[in-house]
Amino acid sequence: MNNIFNYRLDMLEDYFLSIGAKKFNASQVYDWLYKKRVFDFAKMTNLKKELIAKLNATFTNDFLEIVRKQTDKDTSKYLFKLKDGNFVESVLMYHDYGISICVSSQVGCNMGCAFCESGRLKKVRDLQTYEMVEQILLIEEDIKKRISSVVIMGIGEPFDNYDNVMNFIKIINHDKGIAIGARHITVSTCGIIPKIKMLMAEPLQINLAISLHAPNNELRSKLMKINKVYDINELIATLKEYIAKTNRRVTIEYVTLNGVNDSKECALQLAHLLKGMNAYVNLIPYNETNNIGFKKSSKKTILEFYDVLKKEKINVTIRKEFGSKIDAACGQLRSKEVDA
Ligand code: SAH
Repeated sequence: MNNIFNYRLDMLEDYFLSIGAKKFNASQVYDWLYKKRVFDFAKMTNLKKELIAKLNATFTNDFLEIVRKQTDKDTSKYLFKLKDGNFVESVLMYHDYGISICVSSQVGCNMGCAFCESGRLKKVRDLQTYEMVEQILLIEEDIKKRISSVVIMGIGEPFDNYDNVMNFIKIINHDKGIAIGARHITVSTCGIIPKIKMLMAEPLQINLAISLHAPNNELRSKLMKINKVYDINELIATLKEYIAKTNRRVTIEYVTLNGVNDSKECALQLAHLLKGMNAYVNLIPYNETNNIGFKKSSKKTILEFYDVLKKEKINVTIRKEFGSKIDAACGQLRSKEVDA
């Protein structure tokens, strides 16, 4: 049986029409699920008994299970157990501007970035749409508050699970769904070019973030296997196309790794690469993990890197460090669970 949280509103409308019911029944169900947060079909009191019986026979509304929650002052990390026994994580962050959730899109990841804990454990499978939607529903229920933004930067490569991720975005973005504004939704990719091109054609104003992490092919190929498939020049050219077409600014993520990609020379190369582009660089302090040899750059080095970019007139921010005490680096909680 199919989980109800896999369904975009238009899909549910088609379902109701296909059983000879009314299109607006879909809006009614959406209202119960996403506005009133009533998940039991039997309690959807404005639906006819026969429709409730059909819903019960057709859809499940099984939930993932929160099996662990670790909290530091402005961050909570949730470990979810999926129906098949696999684990994924989400991170909840309190900012001055609101509350955000970082969701996972796959169980494990096949991109194999050298510094990343998620990739140490290979991909087991893609997440279904409902497994992403429920990360949000369950956390909102847990904190008794509504969140304001979503970043798809947890475990997995969202563009290696493009269709399910797009369905997820359309459900959470829909006015009748969770209604998170497109400008408050960010998808982060290691740079799968054909999918960036597909996103360009979507009528969605979401934010695109690119994990660049190196300013040249030699270094990027060492850190990120994907660069051997889609190299940095092709990637930057695609981003320029994306910006021209969508008129939207792109975020460039750059994790600073001590002695690896944090030299002034790297900063200068990065500045030249991005010159004139409507992009901004987010410098990310590396979250060290026990299992991988990389170390984070010192504060001084990060500030020097930042200064070089500023001088070159590149928009740049340094990401606030969230959750380093609670293993918030992507994949850390899950890999503890799987190693154990
Ligand atoms: N696969 C997607 C999204 C998931 S990773 C992508 O590559 O963008 C989200 C971000 O966290 C990426 O920029 C990734 O490179 C970065 N990251 C991975 N491990 C990290 C760590 N230990 N500390 C800081 N950032 C990390």
